[in-house]
Amino acid sequence: MAVMTHAHPLPTEIHLHHLNPRVADQLVELLEDADEQAAQHNLTAAALLHAQATQLIGIRPPASGELTRCTCEGCYCTTVFDAAAARCYTSLGIEFVQCETCADEHRIYSD
Ligand SMILES: [Zn+2]
Ligand SMILES: [Zn+2]
Repeated sequence: MAVMTHAHPLPTEIHLHHLNPRVADQLVELLEDADEQAAQHNLTAAALLHAQATQLIGIRPPASGELTRCTCEGCYCTTVFDAAAARCYTSLGIEFVQCETCADEHRIYSD
């Protein structure tokens, strides 16, 4: 008899292309909304959107409470992960984010 347990820890990150495309779209929207709210200093609203995004994709809530998306130019990585682990760099004035795997494998430095 199958018993539902929480024995399996939730993943701490997820690849966008592993998600249902509809869910992935929703996730991107939530993260974009959260960025907008944060830019306007609506931090409570931003935190709520990050919590919604975390719940939507079923990963472990990040310690920082914020998710970010790997926008590495070196590969087609689409990892969504804890924003506290993000390695940021700027290229031509645009800020990009690398996840830990990308930063380990092909770190890009700001120009
Ligand atoms: Zn990455
Ligand atoms: Zn990469």
